[in-house]
Amino acid sequence: MSFYEKAANSHPSLQRGMVWCAVCGRSQRTDAAGSLQHGWPKCCGFTMTIDSPEEREAYAKARGE
Ligand SMILES: [Zn+2]
Repeated sequence: MSFYEKAANSHPSLQRGMVWCAVCGRSQRTDAAGSLQHGWPKCCGFTMTIDSPEEREAYAKARGE
């Protein structure tokens, strides 16, 4: 297993293989190992997040926003 495959398997959100744009909400499947190696997917000028919209909302609530 390569370093990138290990890294991609180290986090449940990376194993899921989905990323979201925090600006427009677009989602796409991604190969986490390949993205870590060759460049993370971008949308609307920002790198896409591995946190789903529901998860980001939960984090914001947890921070008291
Ligand atoms: Zn976007």
